[in-house]
Amino acid sequence: MCGIVGYVGNKDINSVLMAGLWKLEYRGYDSSGVASIVNGDLEVRKVKGRLMNLQEILADKPLSGNLGIGHTRWATHGEPSEQNAHPQVDCKNEIAIVHNGIIENYYSLKEELIKKKHVFRSDTDTEVIAHLVEENYNGDLKESVLKTVSRLKGSFAIAVISVSEPDKIVAYRFGSPLIVGLGKDENLLASDISALMDHTRRVVIMSDGEMVVLKREEVKFYDKDGKNIEKEEKKIKWSPATIQKGKFPHYMLKEIHEQKDIIQKNVNLRIKGSEFDFGENFHFSPQELAHLSHIVIQACGTSWHAGYIGKYLFEDFARVRTEVDISSEFRYRNPVFDGEPLVMAISQSGETADTLAGIREAKAKFLKVLSLVNVRESTISRESDSTIYLNAGSEIGVASTKAYTSQIFQLYLFALYLSRLKWALGSSEIEEKIKEVKGIPEKIERILKEAVKIKKIAKKYKDGKDFMFIGRGINYPSALEGALKLKEISYIHATGYPAGEMKHGPIALISKDSPVVAIAPQSSVYEKMLNNIEELKSRGAKVIIIGSEGDKRIKEIGDDIIYIPLCEENLSPILVAIPLQLFAYYIAALNGRDVDRPRNLAKSVTVE
Ligand code: GLU
Repeated sequence: MCGIVGYVGNKDINSVLMAGLWKLEYRGYDSSGVASIVNGDLEVRKVKGRLMNLQEILADKPLSGNLGIGHTRWATHGEPSEQNAHPQVDCKNEIAIVHNGIIENYYSLKEELIKKKHVFRSDTDTEVIAHLVEENYNGDLKESVLKTVSRLKGSFAIAVISVSEPDKIVAYRFGSPLIVGLGKDENLLASDISALMDHTRRVVIMSDGEMVVLKREEVKFYDKDGKNIEKEEKKIKWSPATIQKGKFPHYMLKEIHEQKDIIQKNVNLRIKGSEFDFGENFHFSPQELAHLSHIVIQACGTSWHAGYIGKYLFEDFARVRTEVDISSEFRYRNPVFDGEPLVMAISQSGETADTLAGIREAKAKFLKVLSLVNVRESTISRESDSTIYLNAGSEIGVASTKAYTSQIFQLYLFALYLSRLKWALGSSEIEEKIKEVKGIPEKIERILKEAVKIKKIAKKYKDGKDFMFIGRGINYPSALEGALKLKEISYIHATGYPAGEMKHGPIALISKDSPVVAIAPQSSVYEKMLNNIEELKSRGAKVIIIGSEGDKRIKEIGDDIIYIPLCEENLSPILVAIPLQLFAYYIAALNGRDVDRPRNLAKSVTVE
């Protein structure tokens, strides 16, 4: 995953590289490093652990020079350690490289290079690139990098510096993002736009198979054969929000509390009277959507759960058959596409490697692609035919919260729009549902006011070792999401199940030591849910029920109750998400976890 930065110019190299890496920390944070060239020598600083460790080292032993590269890592090959951190260097300590991605054929390349007497000092796949550049160097860094990348399989964005050519950074993109920032007497490079914006608004977005050579006063682009190419310069008009935690101890808690405003903002942007407005990047005509035969949603993690909810929405409202697939499965199976399908990609970052590969598969088959992403100008949005932005603002906490509820919100409205185009729901039904949607922000606020109560319940269960989350119908994916939220930030085992499936196996796990979170708001499957809860209770389970305000029955069977306001059944996953997020958050925080940066994870998953 990782974040890459590069800088050539007159500013202090330490602060520019560090500031860029802080912006990219969400992409990986298990180790980090920087390198520059000073008086013909490579200077490298690397550390294991959080970026703060690198900042401390640099305060003690700053780099000098006018050109440097930096990296914040999410290890794929080799444990997080100083040795395995990037930049990786060649045998002679003259070439340094940073890399985002995976070199799939690193093993055979390493064998080949070892035979040629190259000495390896790390367990990374990345190190082969440094040695290959060294092996191929014949007086021209650009040529040697081109020759090197022609041997690499996998995905990579790399930036290379060499003491032999101390005025330039050579970078290449294939499968992992890379953006160039153009400045006055300075030029930059980074894995995403936000890391450039303290310095410039003029950016060039690189495509796969492209190389850039960055000097202080000149930037040149090349294709994979080394031919000079012209690239379009973009002016970035939006400003990066200055994001602070404010009164909250963690970004995650702050982001949970932002959900009322984000849904309100989206209500204002997306609903215009009785019409829908999916924004400036939505280009499909009503005619083409009216002819859709089916929808295929592909996504990963929390976004996949939102997509699963989308299936219920599209089938119920618009009567459009919908498949949902995990992107890493979708891209390697051989799906059947008949009729006129729409492929939907859902991703907070817009850079999720598997989801991106999924849309490339779809585009190669000439299928229509609609993406739902949060980050503007991200690769998935650029490569889709249309994009609906989530407008959730920057999400810093690694566990997605506000992006998830905005995904459900956008899916809900898009399903309503399709239902109109397909004549599946009548105008008055749609009007009624729009009215319900408008009431959601105030209902979210009411749940947020119950945070202290939820914290108390979390305290009671914080030492639990095994949690089961159950739901039915449109809240079955909510159960999956509740379990994922808990495990990713608290490291406590949790499983999500359709409640009706419990007696087909998982009920064997139930005992008084395995708390169950049961999602049972008023709905078409409410009675069924209650029966399932009774079955668990009679086997000794402790049950926390998330139910609708005013429901007295659940009080009689649940050990703890979290109430949410009554709402239209298909909107309930938005409301249900809030207590699930708060419950997971408080359990993790009470156990002293690093909630915003959980172990082994990164915010944007740019490797497959
Ligand atoms: N595969 C490389 C490594 O494990 C790079 C991982 C990344 O993108 O952070 O070092």
